[in-house]
Amino acid sequence: MVVAVEYISKEESEDVESVKHGVTGILAVQGAFAEHAAMLDKLGAPWKLLRAAEDFDESIDRVILPGGESTTQGKLLHSTGLFEPIARHIAAGKPTFGTCAGMILLAKKLDNDSNVYFGALDAVVRRNAYGRQLGSFAATADFGDIKDFPLVFIRGPFVVSVGSEATVETEIDGNVVGLRQGRILATAFHPELTEDTRIHELFLSL
Ligand code: GLN
Repeated sequence: MVVAVEYISKEESEDVESVKHGVTGILAVQGAFAEHAAMLDKLGAPWKLLRAAEDFDESIDRVILPGGESTTQGKLLHSTGLFEPIARHIAAGKPTFGTCAGMILLAKKLDNDSNVYFGALDAVVRRNAYGRQLGSFAATADFGDIKDFPLVFIRGPFVVSVGSEATVETEIDGNVVGLRQGRILATAFHPELTEDTRIHELFLSL
């Protein structure tokens, strides 16, 4: 099997910013990974798609878990062999950013699903929490110090309880939709589907 390995070379050699950090591995077994890559392109940050275990090499120093279908992603994480290296990365306290399904994969517990994936984020997360009617909507709220961030929800989860290790960064209508725990960021919404690069910039600064 030929595995595509995609780097940005132009920016990588010219952009001083990108020298500060290594390559972001973007889980690319299913879902909205291309949008995260486009976001990192805008910021001149190098990235690599993670489709197979061997894609996770020593150049990877941060990981993005994109939106999509968490059950499918969970199965593919195991069948590709990517689960172990990503779990080790998270356990080592390295920067990890989960959006939507990615937040579900990071959670210690789900309140409406018996699956647990990385079990790293000290929170109980509810899948498809907004139901079918309100499955997709837009709003604006802060993510910590980042003010007035445009929030895009697509059948997203929300957080039903937050443990002591995690801090609430975004809340909307009384529901927690953004968390930080050390160098883990998790959003129930999709910053990669907006023009606003601030949360990705924060992630790259961790
Ligand atoms: N509903 C999806 C899930 O439970 C998440 C949706 C998304 O990532 N946009 O996995």
